[in-house]
Amino acid sequence: MTDALYLYAQSVPASDLAELTALLSEIDFIGSNQLAAPFLPGAELMEYITFLGCSPALQRGEIKSDIRIHEFQQPTALGGESIHTLRFPGCKHVIEQPGEIVQHFNQPWQCPVCGHTGRFEDIQWRKSAAISTLFIEISEIFPKEAVPSDKLLELLQKHSGSSWGWFYARSSAPNH
Ligand SMILES: [Zn+2]
Repeated sequence: MTDALYLYAQSVPASDLAELTALLSEIDFIGSNQLAAPFLPGAELMEYITFLGCSPALQRGEIKSDIRIHEFQQPTALGGESIHTLRFPGCKHVIEQPGEIVQHFNQPWQCPVCGHTGRFEDIQWRKSAAISTLFIEISEIFPKEAVPSDKLLELLQKHSGSSWGWFYARSSAPNH
């Protein structure tokens, strides 16, 4: 199981996958001349992602990252596992299977304990899931180990016309 940091456009972005890939390559966030994901990190990745604490791999200069861009025709929810306890809004009953709600994000959920219902957006996901059409996934990053820098968030906003948020979830990488 590998964890990842996901960045996502918070409203419909003006950039598509190709334009975003070109931007990330231009700023050396990903290495240049790569045609398909997973992308290798570029020389400037550390300028855009701020690592917190003292990861041993980081100290040895052995950070091995994969970068993937996910683009969807329709708004899609990713994420679902959290290091925090997630609770239904209102009743505060614990959400035992947040992944199920993410998978069926366009349907109302129902609390199995008290039966009240609501929408995906009503839940305080505590940076563990989000809905978007455009995501950038950076693995391996453990929850709260790293955050995007203001510089990166500003660049993405300028490029896409949307503000960007982030969350931590299981990596989509198949071979970990
Ligand atoms: Zn409840």
